[in-house]
Amino acid sequence: MRVFLFLSLFFVCDYTFASIKQDSQKCTTDLVTIDFNFSGGGNSVCEVISSDHIKILVKPESKDSINPSPWYAFRKSKHIKKILLELDYGEYEHRYFPKIKKINSGWERLNKSDILLKNDGKNVFINFYPSKEDQYISSQELITEDWYEDWYKILKKNKFLKSKIIGYSVQNRPIKAFFSNENINNPFILILGRQHPPEVSSVFAIKGFVNELIGNINLSEKFLSKYNIFFVPLMNPDGVENGFWRYNYNKKDLNRDWDNFFQPETYSVKNFLDNLKNRNQPILYIDFHSTYKNIFYISDAQLTNSQPSFLLNWLEKSRLELSKIGYNFSIKESYTNSNKISKNYFHNKYNIPSMTYEVSDTEERSKITKSSKILARNLITILLNPEDKIIDMAERKGFEPSRRLPVYTLSKRAPSTTRPPLH
Ligand SMILES: [Zn+2]
Repeated sequence: MRVFLFLSLFFVCDYTFASIKQDSQKCTTDLVTIDFNFSGGGNSVCEVISSDHIKILVKPESKDSINPSPWYAFRKSKHIKKILLELDYGEYEHRYFPKIKKINSGWERLNKSDILLKNDGKNVFINFYPSKEDQYISSQELITEDWYEDWYKILKKNKFLKSKIIGYSVQNRPIKAFFSNENINNPFILILGRQHPPEVSSVFAIKGFVNELIGNINLSEKFLSKYNIFFVPLMNPDGVENGFWRYNYNKKDLNRDWDNFFQPETYSVKNFLDNLKNRNQPILYIDFHSTYKNIFYISDAQLTNSQPSFLLNWLEKSRLELSKIGYNFSIKESYTNSNKISKNYFHNKYNIPSMTYEVSDTEERSKITKSSKILARNLITILLNPEDKIIDMAERKGFEPSRRLPVYTLSKRAPSTTRPPLH
């Protein structure tokens, strides 16, 4: 009887295990292995259809309504025959064109001819030809903790900067901040990045922008003697490591938490700023994100201080120079009195210009870096020369005048499936 019970339990367990294996974080056939067990690997699971066909079910971290940013990243072992991989987005649609990273080389887009979209983009079929090495395939470049640590090592060598851990994420990862404090009474510029994990194109912008502020041979020294900067490049380390589409590890959108500060990541920034024991105040806030196009959401029209069009002037002053390198963008006045979004929180609390710096998912990476450096350099110039008249670019011949657009409020947004992505 005991033996029978033991065997019954064994078969029950074995059956359960086999059914989980059908749909798991690793799939192996006699030709290839696919897995997601690495930084940024995400919530996807896989299913073996046949030895040369594996389906990847691309899933968000939560069933709650979530931004349509279907993040996927998988590792493929070497294989000697052609194989077919299928991305199945369920109710979501394909957004990110797949990129591949071969060992010892950078990220490249896959060949368009090897990719077939079906079912209105809800399924994507990708052919892979024999490969002699493991390869990573991902929605966007895998820019995770290691990448940031490499950058931090360089930042720590910069003579103007100090670093500090200002808090810890839900999974206990440090929230790392950098700041210059040549003179603690100087006003400062506040910069945050990566509240939303898949928004990788924005990383090229924040890096270029910050590097220019602290590394311009002619301007940085003077600039940092009059202004400080405070920046947190990676606000959502858990979301990035886990390959989430939107949230932190508590399944909360960090950029909707700036009213209550329930999440440790947002609270760490608020707490640090609230505890500054000197007279310096932020004078400008910039929050880096990514979306379908290059756009700056600005809220300086509401300002009651002396520089009501600071952002608009800065961006318009830079437009011609940016258009010369092919970086085209739009500007949208965007303000609500709700503090949930960081841009509104800093704008409302400090009465300062605040901006969401949105970078197109598909913008050429070198162009993102160049444009962010141009913007940073022009920002320095404007801040160091406040008496200079801002050139009215709209009056230049052949230049498209800027247009003030209606205030952008949450209530005016279209339904979630069709609306532009939220910042
Ligand atoms: Zn975002």
